[in-house]
Amino acid sequence: MTRMTPLLERNEAFARDYTPVPLGPPTAQVLVLTCLDHRVDPAIIFGLELAEAPVIRNAGGRVTESVIDDIAYLAFLAEQLFGAQVAADRLFEVAIIHHTQCGMGFLGDPGFRRQAAGATGLSEAALEAAAVVDPHITVKADVERLLTSPRLSPKVSVSGHVHDVATGRVTTTVDARHP
Ligand SMILES: [Zn+2]
Repeated sequence: MTRMTPLLERNEAFARDYTPVPLGPPTAQVLVLTCLDHRVDPAIIFGLELAEAPVIRNAGGRVTESVIDDIAYLAFLAEQLFGAQVAADRLFEVAIIHHTQCGMGFLGDPGFRRQAAGATGLSEAALEAAAVVDPHITVKADVERLLTSPRLSPKVSVSGHVHDVATGRVTTTVDARHP
């Protein structure tokens, strides 16, 4: 018995009724970027089924160089694999979702940030840049950051949203637009 045992039992039940999904374009035509917080799972919040939407999660749901790397490659891959199946100028929308009560909010406090830097080896500047104190502000900044990246495909659009953990409701802060 390990901590994974109950999860593997649930997987056994899942696999019993499982129908494999062939590789194809994500049917929702949306890529979700959100926080790794266990309360904001996009599959549950949006009722996503298998093969509907790729999801990238990190602390805060922030647009980092590594996220831009993944999106650039996924745009290339989508065009290579499914270029004939999707509109020539439209691959997918990246929906960036930040949330209230984010654990990255503590990093707005300089004392906490200093302690975190000491414990993790990350710089205080990097931790300050990663903070999510007001999700409405950070999500707008990250939409801009992604839209202005020279590595973003012009066939990808970007939108920004805030998930209120108290109500479960997601509201749109920035409507989707192309670079
Ligand atoms: Zn969070």
